[in-house]
Amino acid sequence: MSAAPVEIRAAVLEDKGAPLRVETLLLDPPRRDEVLVRVAAAGVCHSDLHLAKADWYGIGGSGVIGHEAIGIVEALGPGADAYVSVGDRVILGLGGAGGGYWCGACRECLSGRPRLCAQSKPIMGTFSEHFPVYAKSLVVIPDELGDEEAPLACGGLTAYGAVKKLLAHHVLPGRPVAIIGAAGGLGHYAVQIAKAFGYTVVGVDVGQERLDFVKSLGADYALDASEALDTVRAELGGVDASLVFSARVAGFRLGFDLLGPHGLFVGVGLPPTDDGNLEFNPFELFMKDPTIIFSAVGTVQDMRELVALATAGKVKTHVSRTGPLSELGDIFEELEGSKYLGRAVLTDLAH
Ligand SMILES: [Zn+2]
Ligand SMILES: [Zn+2]
Repeated sequence: MSAAPVEIRAAVLEDKGAPLRVETLLLDPPRRDEVLVRVAAAGVCHSDLHLAKADWYGIGGSGVIGHEAIGIVEALGPGADAYVSVGDRVILGLGGAGGGYWCGACRECLSGRPRLCAQSKPIMGTFSEHFPVYAKSLVVIPDELGDEEAPLACGGLTAYGAVKKLLAHHVLPGRPVAIIGAAGGLGHYAVQIAKAFGYTVVGVDVGQERLDFVKSLGADYALDASEALDTVRAELGGVDASLVFSARVAGFRLGFDLLGPHGLFVGVGLPPTDDGNLEFNPFELFMKDPTIIFSAVGTVQDMRELVALATAGKVKTHVSRTGPLSELGDIFEELEGSKYLGRAVLTDLAH
């Protein structure tokens, strides 16, 4: 256990909208129930870009961002040895907004919603050589799972949490389920997970290249957003559920329109605030009798289940771009221009 602060390299956001700078920082040793993880790979999530641009209700600001990582436990704070050991290879288990700490005793924690715990703290700061994190939010992973699977930590977990809600709401395996934004960082996981669960997957995205990718993931239908409504109505009479990963409000509207009678609407994406609101007339609720819910990240138990699926080869991260920490600014620009199918991953956090 190291008692002195360690010098680390980290990508620092100095101000809203300003470019990221890689700097040397001093990091305190891990506190009670915390461990220090040496980050081997960090996924670049769309929400990092939203935080850097502060385009979600102005949330954002300064500091070290990034919240998806696989790494090695390097030092333990007091008490952390009850959960992990030095040398363990781990993935962060709750996703960015899921909380790197939770009390474990309140109503929300005890009902399986630690994200809503009043004491929860976001996991934030993996664009860095080292990251201190609450030991209970880590899941130890087997060697078969490569470092480039780091985006499972938020993108994969968020998709898994959303698909699992289908079971909680009695959408039966075999039934048709639409995934809006199916070629994206989250959607590409959701297609694979929904197939693994046995659903008939209607993948919706825009453009032939993205639709070919959706088909290659195993989707039963790969439909362009412009034709999805007509095709789904003609061939399926509506879907039993829509999982909406789109970063546009238009994708949310499409997800609602695709629902058949008493369908389940699961919102997952978070469009920029200036993209406007999702609106419908109350008469549409009367006609359709839908269930409308939101799904954000997942629990550490969800992460364990997802690691098992990924280890069995049923879910794989599609990595389109890797690079060192110093290329994060370029990656943000490429991400904003939707240049990727799947994900970008930083694989060298020291440079
Ligand atoms: Zn994320
Ligand atoms: Zn709590």
